[in-house]
Amino acid sequence: MLDTTSRDTAVTLARAIAEDDAFRAALADLIAFPTDASREVAPLHAYLAHVAQGFAAMGFETQGYTSEGRPFLLASRIEDDARPTVLGYAHGDTVPGMEGQWADGRDPWALSEDTGTGRWYGRGIADNKGQMLVNMTAMQAVLTARGSLGFNAHVLIEMGEEIGSPGLRKVCDRLKERLKVDLLIASDGPRIDAETPTIFLGARGGATFRLTLHRREGGRHSGNFGGALKNPALELAHALASMTSAKGALQVAGWVPDGVPDAARTALAGLTPAGGEVDADWGAEGLTPAERIHAWNSAEILAFSAGNIAHPVNAIPDRAEAVVQLRYVPGIDDTQLTEALRAHLDQHGFADIAIEEQGPRFRASATRVDHPAAQFAAQSLARTAGDDPVLLPSLGGSLPNDIFTEVLGVPTIWVPHSYPGCSQHAPNEHLPRALFADATGLMAGLYWDLGSVSKDALLGV
Ligand SMILES: [Zn+2]
Repeated sequence: MLDTTSRDTAVTLARAIAEDDAFRAALADLIAFPTDASREVAPLHAYLAHVAQGFAAMGFETQGYTSEGRPFLLASRIEDDARPTVLGYAHGDTVPGMEGQWADGRDPWALSEDTGTGRWYGRGIADNKGQMLVNMTAMQAVLTARGSLGFNAHVLIEMGEEIGSPGLRKVCDRLKERLKVDLLIASDGPRIDAETPTIFLGARGGATFRLTLHRREGGRHSGNFGGALKNPALELAHALASMTSAKGALQVAGWVPDGVPDAARTALAGLTPAGGEVDADWGAEGLTPAERIHAWNSAEILAFSAGNIAHPVNAIPDRAEAVVQLRYVPGIDDTQLTEALRAHLDQHGFADIAIEEQGPRFRASATRVDHPAAQFAAQSLARTAGDDPVLLPSLGGSLPNDIFTEVLGVPTIWVPHSYPGCSQHAPNEHLPRALFADATGLMAGLYWDLGSVSKDALLGV
């Protein structure tokens, strides 16, 4: 039987630690490292050295690795081979600080609070430093309440997620023998909303393509030539329009999934995605907005240019360019995405448009909704929260999840601690402070239950 009293102790303790000033100070320390992934690597190393100390204090052995020039940290606490072994993952790098663009003159690299709204601000607070600290704190609470985790833990931290996770696949491949784990439990990305505990089981893939139509060298007078010369801007506009219906439903054969699996449809029933910011009359027909984001594919025009929009002149532009991005769930042949688009454009009379895929590519991957580990995690969160969590087949956005499902071959359970309005890749990145205690309590319950469940029950063998 599960020890309810001690479970409650661990959850209560976790919440209390997260509400303590020391938690805020620890979070401020993490944010103070200017770990912009696109800049110099010295702060990335310094950040990992700092985090390694935290894990060491919790009885973890820590080991640094370098892969493709990026630093990685593996923290491991092995208690008993008979117990389940869990891999945690986090990233300590961030997008650029965007200094000077934050409201009220906030410094991105200093934790600050808006006492009126109860929000904590700082670059990386949501993506992903705060989420890592929540999980570390929850493990600490279980260690204190139980005297041990009750399971084996590896935590892998990378410092290049925001630039496409260079070296992550290689380092996992290299550590494959050591990382004989039963499942991944990690935290990144947003909950469905700030108040609702959420699990997602994988991530949509992302592939980006530059479409270029270069008709001639230099513009031509729109009066002297207009009507008799092809206009690449018009042609490209027609080509882009052919890729979806007028209501945004994807039309490129090979880019559209076969259908939504029943278990996914059931999990998504009644769900309002994206904080309710959806256009009900947009996207694939016959699907709900939640299915369109979490169980279907979409193509977006990210950028589109021809001529000079700031200073238009009376000329037919010589070239037009667009950047198009496909977000996709597992189930389509993603080795043939460029070929499928090529065939579509050719078929619609746009053979002159050049296509170039622009990296990095995120591959789609997800654990099935009815996997026992997914059900275990959902039940654990329900037990702590008193209500079922939202269970998403895939995160709408992308994560390097396929590395864990393919290289390590494990089920992937993501319990995100951010929320859709967190401005994670913009100025003013923040989280509601109340979310920290809530999330830390949920994770303490989940780690507690991992220390109580048998390997067989967890994996359904
Ligand atoms: Zn990010």
